[in-house]
Amino acid sequence: MKLDVDVLRYLSKDDFRVLTAVELGMRNHEIVPTELIDRIARLKHGGTYKVLKNLLKHKLLHHDSSKYDGFRLTYLGYDYLAIKTMVNKGVFVGVGRQIGVGKESDIFEVVCEDGTVLAMKLHRLGRVSFRAVKSKRDYLRHRSSYNWLYLSRLAALKEFAFMKALETHSFPVPKAVEHNRHCVVMSLVQGYPLVQVKQLQNPETVFETILGIVVRLAEHGLIHCDFNEFNIMIDDDEKITMIDFPQMVSVSHRNAQMYFDRDVECIFKFFQKRFNLSFQETIDDNDDSDEGKDEDGRPCFSEIERSAGFLDKELAASGFTRKDEEDIQRFIEGGAEAETNSDSEVDSVEDLNESILLQDEEHENKGKDESCEAAESGASEREDATDEEENEMENEAELTKSLNKQRRHAIAATRRGRKSHASRNSYKDKGGRSSLNSKLQKQLSSW
Ligand code: ADP
Ligand code: MG
Repeated sequence: MKLDVDVLRYLSKDDFRVLTAVELGMRNHEIVPTELIDRIARLKHGGTYKVLKNLLKHKLLHHDSSKYDGFRLTYLGYDYLAIKTMVNKGVFVGVGRQIGVGKESDIFEVVCEDGTVLAMKLHRLGRVSFRAVKSKRDYLRHRSSYNWLYLSRLAALKEFAFMKALETHSFPVPKAVEHNRHCVVMSLVQGYPLVQVKQLQNPETVFETILGIVVRLAEHGLIHCDFNEFNIMIDDDEKITMIDFPQMVSVSHRNAQMYFDRDVECIFKFFQKRFNLSFQETIDDNDDSDEGKDEDGRPCFSEIERSAGFLDKELAASGFTRKDEEDIQRFIEGGAEAETNSDSEVDSVEDLNESILLQDEEHENKGKDESCEAAESGASEREDATDEEENEMENEAELTKSLNKQRRHAIAATRRGRKSHASRNSYKDKGGRSSLNSKLQKQLSSW
């Protein structure tokens, strides 16, 4: 996908304010009603409509008037929100060329103020699977955008958390720098994916190193689950870096043995085919290092000693929760099963939808107690506040006050059993409750 960052320069504060308003609206709406966007963005003199046209022109939003008039974010719109936040935080100052296109991600070079070049991964979880589902099941079509926002954000959060934890334990991984929404910034790996390498000086050594990583991961309680020539980078000195972590699982996962064996098998097959390694030869009968391996030299999952709790303790501390893990695993496994059974994919996507909706309901229930909501979101989002945002506190207070007022009006209107002013279209407006989280409020006021 083309990421024309020049557009960023032409986008005004109002443009980002409206873009953020759409993002906020998407918490509860597949397509965010135009009126709701206007109420959240609160631009003067009906300015929202002009801005929406501009955002549409730049393909940052998608317009949908099939059921009611509204908009949703495009990938590009979500990309720009994340990039803008990164730039505001001083993580990087510019976006360069695209260096990778994964199945469910796009990777770009980004440059820092001091000239350092880093890698930025924009997750697109759901890009492949949802396209397949969309073509089969009409009723999911309107849900897809809702899911990719949530899933891609989860994938980025998980990738960042795992990269950090793995780095701490001296695994050869890129250095995790920052994450926001569906975007992860990390150090740029010098080298190439192993799949592009036709010759090695020391194929046996490289093979042993790679196999050693799989075993050491299991000793730490983890399985990569996509450990293959596409996710292993190698440089000119034949130094290995492992990448791509959103699908990793704990060794206590019910299919752990299968995932582990699959990772091992991928490595064996690749080295056999590409570098003609014969594995019987790599085993020396007098060598103790063959302990815990089968007759072909494949490590046995059941014989690997592990220090339990790594995943739970360290990753829970990183902000990536068990619930996050369950949601993302459900999606990944649902997608994998779908290759052989399309119905099960739909089931699991459905389940995930339910869980997202449930989560939103929970959020909204909390929102019924306004003071409670303010305290809660204030605490959980505080760490993301920047100096600039702090300076906008006054602005924010005003925004919060006004939104709360709108919300009260809408709730009162709903209680009176008539449609609120804002919900006269056919959309199911959740009462202008807007479940505004304070981070987004802050963002709105800081654009
Ligand atoms: P996906 O999850 O979509 O497979 P990956 O993380 O595997 O995405 O990245 C896709 C490609 O992007 C990789 O094969 C590699 O070529 C490139 N890439 C990813 N991360 C980096 C990095 N940190 N440095 C350099 N190249 C990278
Ligand atoms: Mg990959």
